[in-house]
Amino acid sequence: MIQFWNKRIKLGILTENPEHDEAFKLIQKEIKERVKKKFAGSLAIRMVDSGSCNACEAECNALSNPYYDLERLGIYFVASPRHADVMLLSGLMTFNMTPHVFDAYRQMPEPKWIITLGECPAMKSPFENSFAINAPAEDHLPITHHIPGCPPEPKEIIEGLLAFLRKI
Ligand code: SF4
Repeated sequence: MIQFWNKRIKLGILTENPEHDEAFKLIQKEIKERVKKKFAGSLAIRMVDSGSCNACEAECNALSNPYYDLERLGIYFVASPRHADVMLLSGLMTFNMTPHVFDAYRQMPEPKWIITLGECPAMKSPFENSFAINAPAEDHLPITHHIPGCPPEPKEIIEGLLAFLRKI
């Protein structure tokens, strides 16, 4: 037991503490203020996967954990496009998913925006001649903002959301 406590004291706290990340705190503060001003404190996002490998979704899952805690900033993931302000579109635009993406976009109330997530929705080459891919997404839908990365890390997604909020 003494060995255990000696080791613990010697190692200290190894996990990151977002409270000590001053730059990140400023980003969170600005997002909260802009969501409050432009969306009355509540921005709803509907995630749509048009053919991803699921890594982008896994990074988005992390946005709901206690470390990033996006809901604290007033940003929520919703289950229906009818409740969404923003569509977060991930993955290649596959032929089979294209009508469902259009359908989800049609169901969103105005005003509405689309943010593409990860490299896939923006990629054209080498899929331009594929029968199965309708790439890139911007050829078919009005994309307001793109968050690059493969996959983008949670912090990059949060920075991307701030860039979107600054743009609109
Ligand atoms: S951008 Fe990368 S991580 Fe995201 S869906 Fe495409 S291949 Fe997967």
